[in-house]
Amino acid sequence: MLDIVASTTDHLTADQILERVQAGTPEVHRATVYRTLDTLTRIGVIEHTHLGHGPAVYHLVHDRHHHLVCVSCALVVDIDSALFNELEARVHEEYGFHMNPGHFAVVGLCADCAEHEHPARSHSHG
Ligand SMILES: [Zn+2]
Ligand SMILES: [Zn+2]
Ligand SMILES: [Zn+2]
Repeated sequence: MLDIVASTTDHLTADQILERVQAGTPEVHRATVYRTLDTLTRIGVIEHTHLGHGPAVYHLVHDRHHHLVCVSCALVVDIDSALFNELEARVHEEYGFHMNPGHFAVVGLCADCAEHEHPARSHSHG
């Protein structure tokens, strides 16, 4: 099962992992797969992240990266987690807060969608 998480660059939900496990080993129960995901998470081999409103997706911990998700076309971009280092340090310094910026994706518009949108930049509400 670790192979399934490790061998894909896709972002798989627990259900998609279950599907792939059962494609190879149909007798494996859903509860077993979910329990294994829990165990692997607890021992720090995999972690999950939330890309949007849907179910969480799983990653290997050593392949840690953060995500940008386009709210318009649902494009997911993997980004270097080091990009957040400075922000994390500042937040910790000023608020004593330990950020976990990878747990949720950063949402916005991808370059293509931003080009097609015509955002009203004037602050006219009020
Ligand atoms: Zn979570
Ligand atoms: Zn987009
Ligand atoms: Zn990813």
